Amino acid sequence: MRIQFWGTRGSIAKPGPTTTRYGGNTSCVEIRSDSGTLIVVDCGTGGHSLGHQLMSQRKRNLPVNGHMLISHTHWDHIQGIPFFAPMFVQENTWNIYGPKGLSQNLRTTLAGQMDHSYFPIALDQFASTNHYHDLVEGAFSIDDIQITSRYLNHPALTLGYRFEVDGASVAYCCDHEPHSAAFASGELRITGVDRRYAEFVEGADLVIHDAQYTALEYAAKVGWGHSTAEYAVRVCRDAGVKRLLLTHHDPLRDDAAIDRIVSGIRERLRDDKVDLKVDAAAEGMAVELRGTPAVSAPNPKVQFQARTAISAASMARPVLLYTIDKSMTETLALAIRGESMPMVNARDQADLLKLSAEEQFSVVIIEHSPPARDGLELALALRASEAEGRVQVPIVLVTSGDHAASQANNIATDWLVAPFSLSYARTKIRAWALRSASRWIRADLPKDEASRVSVLRELGILDTGPEEPFDRVTRIAATAFNAPISLVSLVDTDRQWFKSNFGLSTSETSRDSAFCAHVVQKNDELVVSDTLQDDRFADNPLVQGQPHVRFYAGAPLTLRDGSCIGTLCLFDTRPREFTHEDMQMLRDLRDLVLDEIERKRV
Ligand SMILES: [Zn+2]
Ligand SMILES: [Zn+2]
Repeated sequence: MRIQFWGTRGSIAKPGPTTTRYGGNTSCVEIRSDSGTLIVVDCGTGGHSLGHQLMSQRKRNLPVNGHMLISHTHWDHIQGIPFFAPMFVQENTWNIYGPKGLSQNLRTTLAGQMDHSYFPIALDQFASTNHYHDLVEGAFSIDDIQITSRYLNHPALTLGYRFEVDGASVAYCCDHEPHSAAFASGELRITGVDRRYAEFVEGADLVIHDAQYTALEYAAKVGWGHSTAEYAVRVCRDAGVKRLLLTHHDPLRDDAAIDRIVSGIRERLRDDKVDLKVDAAAEGMAVELRGTPAVSAPNPKVQFQARTAISAASMARPVLLYTIDKSMTETLALAIRGESMPMVNARDQADLLKLSAEEQFSVVIIEHSPPARDGLELALALRASEAEGRVQVPIVLVTSGDHAASQANNIATDWLVAPFSLSYARTKIRAWALRSASRWIRADLPKDEASRVSVLRELGILDTGPEEPFDRVTRIAATAFNAPISLVSLVDTDRQWFKSNFGLSTSETSRDSAFCAHVVQKNDELVVSDTLQDDRFADNPLVQGQPHVRFYAGAPLTLRDGSCIGTLCLFDTRPREFTHEDMQMLRDLRDLVLDEIERKRV
């Protein structure tokens, strides 16, 4: 993987004699996998030179296609887009990804900066074919690159990205502020919410990190949404990162000052005998990462699908608020209304527990102001009272004491430390709600997808009428397992189609929502005892809507040549256990289906 910097400045472009070495253009990084997948991370003013370089180096008559990942839509991360040369050429195709907001999508936000008051060409007038993708926190892949996204701590909805390809990993974290100011000096070992942030970059070969301020400057910059260089170093130290490149340099920082920061950090790391390589990112700098393919695995801590469509229903869930401080309550209420979300106030502790037991909230916000109110204890009680099978609601503790946010515990999903601005509260509420709204993972395509599909098509079985040998098996399965639904499901390119269907009123569903697509992806059996307890399926449309699947068991239909074309599966509307003996029987029934298919094949 090759990484090249085209813009390293934060906030505003700062060309001039004092910034010649580290550069004056705002954020833009080019990432290329060995196989040629091109990702542009942020497109600040640095994107202008990158665009021209891409066009000048293009091979004769070949389109210049790529993917652009935007961390957030503050100016210094998007101002290069209207000047990005490849988007002025018709045969080019660009996919643009960025954090999804509640009130407006990425495309509308990007169109805003190209409104005629600001720019002569509208977003619609780009000659290239552009696709816009709204992202939430989670995982997805672009060609050969595995990507995980994570919400950062910034006064706009902002995603950090981690890329895994060619056996190496790189994380891009701009713009981000420590959750607890206690860590800004870099002296303390990272704990609490910041520890969870550190897990995002754990073990990375390279971290590109916001380092706009120094620890000394930070006291006057709390709440501005940026890191100190010392914090970036501490996070990377504690997370076992191999190399750190500081970026998003403050516009007032000249080259000599950046040199001093870096040499101070290196000296400290030498004294502490820490093996972490630290440099400041500079415009034009290129880094080659060589890894071992075995190490390249997606971040296991991330289970969500980042490109999940957020259902309107899950965003309409109200926020449950339990606060005493008057100004805090007012700000939060304004923020929740600003995000167009309904809100419910709990009167007292008993009311809080009762309400949360009755209804699924998008997020619960509880004030923590000991000794008058112990939010931690309340959160614990709320967790304990959560109904079995219910999706865990994010619990956020608001406090005016910073000490709390640095305490390690896993009860609170997040902390909000007062004083906070209205826009900051809105951003956080939006992020929590989106986070809780995306418990659904689509299955990736299996490696043999192309050959698998062609084998399936050659069978000539898709869209044929019902046949007794198949229907007999689903009938027996449903009866033997006392399950309302049993299917012979064939997984086609973008749908699953049911050759035999016991108990379901539809003949096919989309592949995105298909449980069986997960069986096909792994070519392995799958049992989901309780869908609502499973982050891969809790928000699946077949779980949240008809037929309200709570239990799934599927055995792969793997032909003799190894192609997995579908499943014999069971659905139930109740959670249930599935024993080894049960699975053995499902396998036997599955073999009857396979025999029938193979028999027809010859
Ligand atoms: Zn920025
Ligand atoms: Zn920003």
